[in-house]
Amino acid sequence: MQEIFIIVQYISLLLLVYPAANQPGEACAAAGEEEGGTSSQSPAAALILCRACGHELAVGTDIHIVQSRLALSSRNDTSIGSRRVNVQLFENPHGHQFEVITFRKAAVTLQWPADKHFSWFPGFSWMMATCPRCRIHLGWGFQPSDWPDTVTKNRFEESEHTFLALITHRLLREDFASSLLMIPKSFNS
Ligand SMILES: [Zn+2]
Repeated sequence: MQEIFIIVQYISLLLLVYPAANQPGEACAAAGEEEGGTSSQSPAAALILCRACGHELAVGTDIHIVQSRLALSSRNDTSIGSRRVNVQLFENPHGHQFEVITFRKAAVTLQWPADKHFSWFPGFSWMMATCPRCRIHLGWGFQPSDWPDTVTKNRFEESEHTFLALITHRLLREDFASSLLMIPKSFNS
């Protein structure tokens, strides 16, 4: 029963976010891709999940490139988005390196107050971003550094000047068609 509920949740989410997927032609196209074909899947169909627990964090279209001149390197990658997405490598003051993808929004828990120091994006303060379900550290949120250190979740989410940088290897991509087959595996834990 739980699996059915989760599948319904996925479909509802997709219909909510992508009304076009509701059209019969689109649905047939998606169903036809179950057998292997990945090249023709639209970016809109890609779900981005927490790799640790399968929690839905974002969809492919939430990916939003924010380039930083402080990145040690920057490359394009297809492992997370269906299209090529920009992956930047950063190093924190402790010498730990993180590859991140930037998102306009994602369903993460942000932990204010924001910190202006050691920001990877000049002009922005950062705060930790964790998974709402399993609490694992997923990355960071960024807000303009002239904002108060603590703001409401609504203000952060509604602003066009905020974004998130999520750690690439803590994310998992699932395309809509394959997610119908793979959901039980993702939710085994
Ligand atoms: Zn999680």
